[in-house]
Amino acid sequence: MLELLLKKYLDHIIKKYHQWLLEGRQSLQELAVYELCGCKQRATFNRTLPHIVIANSIKPINIVSEAIHEGLESILGYSEKVFSKTIDVGGTRYTIYAQPDYFDGEVLIDFKFTTAPLETLPKERHIMQVKLYKWVTGAKKAYILYLSPRGIREVEVTEEFTDEDVRKLIESWSSPRDPRECGECPYKYFCPHYKPQVATQPQQTAQQRNR
Ligand code: SF4
Repeated sequence: MLELLLKKYLDHIIKKYHQWLLEGRQSLQELAVYELCGCKQRATFNRTLPHIVIANSIKPINIVSEAIHEGLESILGYSEKVFSKTIDVGGTRYTIYAQPDYFDGEVLIDFKFTTAPLETLPKERHIMQVKLYKWVTGAKKAYILYLSPRGIREVEVTEEFTDEDVRKLIESWSSPRDPRECGECPYKYFCPHYKPQVATQPQQTAQQRNR
């Protein structure tokens, strides 16, 4: 029964999030928001080694996170959709794709399942992610809803990214963007840019759906 459940879960995850990687068509000029918030080398590996992305989805914390996302989206009667926006950076056109957990045309919500202490939230990367969602979708209001065994916390993201901010984000895209990314990265065993973690973080936010 467990194997059947995991098989159906993986089919669901691939269809919802990773089909575009398996099709092998995307260059680094076509980017998901979650990739731009993180490591550039990881985005490159995602394209050449998509099965590692899918295998990473099988971590228990990611399964729990996806179950919570599906439950909330079902309660809200929302099905995730992909939005995109293109920008010119030094003569090269980049298309950024956003797949928010909820967006009704005005209000956008990003759900985050986390085991991190509530006082450590929000994380800078999560704010960046939602600002990019706002930039892509044109949402008027945006929130992060943190769900944790310790409690629930809503954070409104009032800041906006301008086109120039997004250009700078693309130009400054590095490997890694933050050395703390390397600790949980599935590519760390062979990545030439791997940086050992500088601080111990026993409780991490779910890297839900790798997005
Ligand atoms: S190990 Fe670090 S530098 Fe390498 S892909 Fe992963 S996050 Fe990026």
